[in-house]
Parts: sequence; C-alpha cells; structure tokens
Amino acid sequence: MQSRLLKIIEEAERGRPMTVEEMTDIFATDDEDIRRTLFEVADRVRHKSVGDAVYLRALVEFSNHCRNNCSYCGIRPGNRQVKRYRMEPEEIVEALAVAHRLNIGTAVLQSGEDLWYDTGKIVWMIREIKERYGMAVTLSLGERSYEDYQAFREAGADRYLLRHETSDPELYAGLHPGMTLQHRLCCLRQLKELGYQTGSGNMVGLPGQTCLSLAHDVAFIRDMGLEMAGIGPFIPAEDTPLSNAECGTLDVVLREVALLRLNSPLLMIPATTAVATLDSQGRQQALQCGANILMPNFTPLRYRERYRLYAGKACSNESFEQCIGSMFGMLSSIGRSVGKGPGHSLKGSGVYI
Ligand code: SAH
Repeated sequence: MQSRLLKIIEEAERGRPMTVEEMTDIFATDDEDIRRTLFEVADRVRHKSVGDAVYLRALVEFSNHCRNNCSYCGIRPGNRQVKRYRMEPEEIVEALAVAHRLNIGTAVLQSGEDLWYDTGKIVWMIREIKERYGMAVTLSLGERSYEDYQAFREAGADRYLLRHETSDPELYAGLHPGMTLQHRLCCLRQLKELGYQTGSGNMVGLPGQTCLSLAHDVAFIRDMGLEMAGIGPFIPAEDTPLSNAECGTLDVVLREVALLRLNSPLLMIPATTAVATLDSQGRQQALQCGANILMPNFTPLRYRERYRLYAGKACSNESFEQCIGSMFGMLSSIGRSVGKGPGHSLKGSGVYI
C-alpha cells in the first residue's frame, strides 16, 4: 500500500491526474511518510506552477442578512441571537480605500444572500471600486439570477466565489433546507460561461462526510476547470443545529489542499480564515502544502463580530494593520513574497512559471 501511494504521488507530480479511488486512499491513510511526501510534493508543484508570490485579497463582509438557513452557518436566519447589519454601498466602497493604499490588488465583497442589495446597488459598487481604486473585483454573494451574474460581469466584476460546500448530493440536501446541489452547480456553470474566474470549494469534517466524498470534491474542482477553490474545516457555530458537532481537522484540510495542488496545478488556493481559527499555525501550514492566497479582513471592526459564521472566527477583533502586519511577518518567515498587481488566475494565460 505504502509504495503504491508513494508512486501515485510521484506520478501526480509529473502531471498524471489521480483517480477518485487513489485520492480516497490518500485521505484515509495513517502512514506518516505518505503524508509528509504528499505535502512536500504539493509544495514543489506550487512553487513550479504558480511561484512563490502570495496574493492578498481584501475581504469586506458587508451584510449578515441571509435568506438561506444552512444548518452549519452562524448567520442563518434561524439564529435569533445574531444582531443583523447592512453596510451602505458607499460605506463598503470606502472600507476598501485602506486596502488600496496598502497596494492590495483585489477586493472581495461577501455577504449572506441578501437581496436588499439589488442589481443596481451591486453594479454601482463594482463600478466605483474599479473607478476609484482600479482593483480586481471578486463577488461572493451566493446564488443570484443569471441576469444578475451577467449585469455584474458587464459592470466589470472579474471573479466569483461560490463554494459547492460538499459534492455529496444527499449530504448537501441535509445541510441546506430548500436548496439543491444541482442548482448550486448550475450557478457555477453560468458563472464560468459568463467568463468569471470562478471559485468553489468545500468544508472538511462535515458530520457524515467520508474520505470518498472528499475525493469527489477534489475531482469535481479539477474536472469543472475552476480557477479557485477555498477549503476550510467545518467549525460548529453557537445557536445552530450543529453547535455540538465535531470540528474538521487541520490534517484533513491540508491533505485536501495538497491534493488540489497536485491535481489542478494552476488553481488559486487561499489559506482560509477557518484554517487560522482552528490552529494558529494553520494558514502558514496551508501555504506550505499548496496554498498561494491570503484574504485579510477589511470589514470595519464595528461589524466584524456580527459576521460570525462559526465560533472563535480568527481576526475578529484585530485591526487591519495588525492583521496585515502579522501576515507580512509570517510570509517572510517562510520565504514567500507578497504578490503585486491583481493576481489573476494564470489559467489560459500561457504563463507557466
Ligand atoms: N452567502 C455566500 C457566502 C457564504 S459565507 C454564499 O452562499 O456563497 C462563506 C463560506 O463560509 C460558506 O461558503 C461556507 O463554506 C463557510 N462557512 C459557513 N459556516 C461555516 C462553519 N460553521 N464552519 C466553517 N465554514 C463555514
């Protein structure tokens, strides 16, 4: 078994995609050598394919109103303990001024699914961000109509993040009342078709999730030809149906990050906030086994506490300067540079570092 898995990892380094069965075995193994080799090879492939630069994305979490009642999520409407907020469009654009001054090339606008922000408001923000700061714009607003996605794209939005959460349709249905995996995937296909650099991703350690299902997540991201994928541990949120469930583990998150890097060499992979919440070294470790993106939080401090997707969310009360300062320090300690410019996906660009 050991030599078989080592051989599979070596072949992946030379460009052979893995089968779902092979990836399932790599998720399941408790062999320390395989785990270490997987991480080392993924770090090498990251270096060769996307280089040593780590791109920063300035995140503004602008509303915690949401129409979906996902059982894991701290801001689900069923959670009556949450104090709701909505930032005004001008306030959102203004919050990005400091990110622009710090030379961050991408703005990420994220919220619950909140239709108070109609087509016109989102379009206005995209245009203002482009005009005032010239930043790339990533949206993460959940499921919207095709017409909305099209209008946002025409206004200049570059990228869209919509995690598939889990590629197992039954697990998906159980966690998302009234929603289907099929519709989620339909949105992802529309986004791709409209020319967005499209990101998806899943949680790790959801109750009932298996190694096979995680292997399908990796294959899904690869086979859809996505540009980005965010992977984070499931962390129980207070006052939700899953508040007493077990957390996902750092080890499994790192394995998935590494497998993604091996199977989709040019993918943009963030070292997520959830990984940092789980372990103070989590982000650094993710960057050392495949990840190449960080998403510092630029949500004004007075709202940050209320965008609590899960318990103990990292950076909830750190200022931008503190957050950025510690990221820069961490990057230089692991020999990585800060990426300049928008940090677009290299896929299709013909650039291969
Ligand atoms: N409404 C947007 C943004 C959702 S919040 C959308 O639907 O895309 C961003 C991500 O946080 C979600 O996609 C989910 O993967 C993650 N998340 C939510 N609750 C979580 C929890 N309890 N533990 C870990 N991650 C969580």
